[in-house]
Amino acid sequence: MNDCIFCRISKGEIPSNKVYEDDKILCFHDLDPQAPVHVLIIPKKHIASLDDVGEEDKELLGHIMTKVKDIAKTLGLENGYRLVNNCGEDGFQTVKHIHFHLLGKRKMTWPPG
Ligand code: C5P
Repeated sequence: MNDCIFCRISKGEIPSNKVYEDDKILCFHDLDPQAPVHVLIIPKKHIASLDDVGEEDKELLGHIMTKVKDIAKTLGLENGYRLVNNCGEDGFQTVKHIHFHLLGKRKMTWPPG
């Protein structure tokens, strides 16, 4: 999608502070961090939200989940972290390209706002 900011970031058209990249996914630092460590993990394939994930995306989403611990280790999150997906309006999703926030290096609270 040409007008999707995360598609443009994944293609390198917009620069990002990359943490991890392979042929399927990209992880980069959030521009407006909500914790000392706050990165976003995105698939390079455009999927608008968790609501739009299809059967064909099982492997891709599984790939993201298996990389989380490796990315957390790279970022020094040995004491734990939080993985967040915001979906749709009530979930406060602002970028319509599925992404997972990985936050750490501070004690999280519950419930989230
Ligand atoms: O889950 P949600 O859609 O609200 O999160 C979008 C995230 O993308 C925000 O945390 C925002 O700071 C981040 N962002 C970014 N770089 C951009 C646009 C948005 O890191 N160019």
